[in-house]
Amino acid sequence: MSTTHKAHCLILPYPVQGHINPMLQFSKRLQSKGVKITISPTKSFLKTMQELPTSVSIEAISDGYNGGIDQAESFLAYITRFKEVGSDTLTQLIKKLENCECPVNCIVYDPFLPWAVEVAKDFGLVSAAFFTQNCVVDNIYYHVHKGVLKLPPTQVDGEILIPGLSSTIESSDVPSFESSPQSEKLVEMLVNQFSNLEKVDWVLINSFYELEKEVIDWMAKLYPIKTIGPTIPSMYLDKRLPNDKEYGLSLFKPMAKECLNWLNHQPISSVVYVSFGSMAKLEAEQMEELAWGLKNSNKNFLWVVRSTEESKLPKNFIEELKLASENKGFVVSWCPQLQVLEHKSIGCFLTHSGWNSTLEAISLGVPMVTMPQWSDQPTNAKLVHDVWEMGVRAKQDDKGIVRREIIEENIKLVMEEEKGKVIRENAKKWKEFARNAVDEGGSSDKNIEEFVSNLTTIS
Ligand code: UDP
Repeated sequence: MSTTHKAHCLILPYPVQGHINPMLQFSKRLQSKGVKITISPTKSFLKTMQELPTSVSIEAISDGYNGGIDQAESFLAYITRFKEVGSDTLTQLIKKLENCECPVNCIVYDPFLPWAVEVAKDFGLVSAAFFTQNCVVDNIYYHVHKGVLKLPPTQVDGEILIPGLSSTIESSDVPSFESSPQSEKLVEMLVNQFSNLEKVDWVLINSFYELEKEVIDWMAKLYPIKTIGPTIPSMYLDKRLPNDKEYGLSLFKPMAKECLNWLNHQPISSVVYVSFGSMAKLEAEQMEELAWGLKNSNKNFLWVVRSTEESKLPKNFIEELKLASENKGFVVSWCPQLQVLEHKSIGCFLTHSGWNSTLEAISLGVPMVTMPQWSDQPTNAKLVHDVWEMGVRAKQDDKGIVRREIIEENIKLVMEEEKGKVIRENAKKWKEFARNAVDEGGSSDKNIEEFVSNLTTIS
């Protein structure tokens, strides 16, 4: 049976898991409102996925490299070639789709690829930039774009008030990058998200209005901003979208059965879930402190240690956990994070504060201990601690290490102490706000409706 579509959006993500997943979830929401979706990751990225989405069409473009960024001689070489080959292959794809029952009339692109706007303009298509970070972080990059702030290294001269932050910012609150030519290029790409932005029809933000009212209102005076999040697979929210089958895409194979089986044997709210996402590399000294902090907290813990990080664990750590009679801790190489966060045994999330992880914890109501590492993570941690008050940021010492005593203290604060009660209550409160935002008639749902009805008017 053929479906009549209202419009056709071509979705162009930057090829990393943390960017493609929110765009995929947004696509499903558009699809549920009658929009045809074609997602266009790069061919090289598709090869790395464990599973491909089945609920949307996929038509790959090329970044000019068979093996993606790992094959490029530098980051600059990668983005330069991606622009050239990506524009060409995107153009060919749009031409090919001109013959389908509902030709493409909109490109939703990741602003890491600002050249997509030019392609959209060439074909007279609607263009929408999809920012995967939250609005406060976007606002900081906007200030860097305007020359008010400098990164990296971070220089905060004088008092700078970013709307939506409770106090003037300090160096430890802004996105952090090491000083290297590679990082400079990365920051350039982050700041370049604002290039071409005056030409776009929409700026979509992976957040929700209630979470960041002040900064969203501020940015909305400059750009046609719409928040559309949280971009959580609908099976974790109150209402599941029809045909929503995927749990999200994954680069690594999750040890799903093992994790859930282990969690099923733990008491309610007793477990600390620990993860540093897909990229962060901890120093061996930090790993050791973390291992002891977890053990000393005397809480049960499920800790994701990617295989590339495993050698940094204290000697015999995993073996000793396995031998211990009380089954206190479980280390896995990758887990189904959303299924873990929603499990009733979880009482706290010790996180690197990646934006996807933070938004997932907010949507599932899990209080956090944050240990940000780099990029936007310090800003996310600042928001969690100071603004949303649904977690604590673990303090580093002068060497930049969070010591075992601090880890133990913070876990206990969030999970059991009277002082942490407000944090646990706020976690429940934000969960409700997040769910309401994407529910029918909620702030994000209304924005998505408006986006779709404008597309329909144009087509
Ligand atoms: N994740 C997962 N299993 C794990 C650890 C992480 O599925 O064991 C997922 C998590 O749910 C999130 C993503 O990986 O969607 C991490 O994204 P985030 O933005 O938090 O951090 P990044 O990996 O980009 O640093």
